[in-house]
Amino acid sequence: MDREAVAAQLQEFGQPAYRMDQIVRAQRAGASSWDEVTTLGKGLRADLADRGPLWSVEPRERLVSTDGTVKWRLGLADGREIESVLISHARGRRTLCVSSQVGCALGCTFCSTGTMGFGRDLTAWEIVEQALIAAQEADAQRARLSNVVFMGMGEPMQNLPAVLAAVDELHGPAPGLGISARQIAISTVGWVPGIAELQEYPLPVRLAVSLHAADDETRTRLMPINQRYPIASLLAACRRYCDTTGRRVFIEYVLLDGVNDSLEDARRLARILRDGRFHVNLIEYNATGGEYAASRPDRRERFLLALERAGLEASVRRSRGADVAAACGQLVTQAAAQPA
Ligand code: SF4
Repeated sequence: MDREAVAAQLQEFGQPAYRMDQIVRAQRAGASSWDEVTTLGKGLRADLADRGPLWSVEPRERLVSTDGTVKWRLGLADGREIESVLISHARGRRTLCVSSQVGCALGCTFCSTGTMGFGRDLTAWEIVEQALIAAQEADAQRARLSNVVFMGMGEPMQNLPAVLAAVDELHGPAPGLGISARQIAISTVGWVPGIAELQEYPLPVRLAVSLHAADDETRTRLMPINQRYPIASLLAACRRYCDTTGRRVFIEYVLLDGVNDSLEDARRLARILRDGRFHVNLIEYNATGGEYAASRPDRRERFLLALERAGLEASVRRSRGADVAAACGQLVTQAAAQPA
């Protein structure tokens, strides 16, 4: 059941507000049904079970990559499905790539999620439960869910109220997950009004902007949203964000063979980013069965070097989980417009 629904039920039953904390703590500890929330009385558990299941998100499939990445296909109460991905790092750290919508309306041409169409926004609680499931997995691996990135299905800025409500929960003390705000990244393909809204949010979360091209023609081909918010308006919004928050912006740039990975592309990118507070993450492309291919390693290295020579901070983000289609751009379930 969604948290709001549980809260309403508790109120209807005349229960104190702390019951909600007890429920979340039980979920965090691995309770799979109301029966296992033993901190509640038997009668209350039965009443709640009559109204709906404990979880609003239910794992339907769990795939493990050869590199340790775990991908879940998760069912929602209305029959729709989403995916989320847990990535392993050194020293027991784990990053969850979380979904914020069922499918996506924005149709980026390199992204599998974009082929699904838009189903609906996730609630804050459906986002938080993805993290609760991931935290249990991390516990089982004797590791720690340390980072959350909103880079799964959907455009987080188009569902920002729920995303920020979820961030409050992820960041908050127990029964929240206590994840540092600096280790939470909200990613956008360039929804400019969302960037302006995020800069007013008090927690110092990271902003990641998927740019993927340094000229409008190429960017519009990759990301139709560029027609609405072209590069100049997007970077102006990023600069305002930097000035207001004092934080830098992470620019995501997926390298596509012969599309955006030439030396001229690198020099143009360095030029348009030169007076900002940006860090560029170059991303290895993962095959999605479409028209694009990954850049060759020599072209990738040449691109990186050109950015560094121009004085930009840049690094290459290695692909993870591609063998179970868990890598960037590969998340897809059935068409989003209809429930399963
Ligand atoms: S890249 Fe992001 S915004 Fe673009 S279609 Fe995929 S999920 Fe949507």
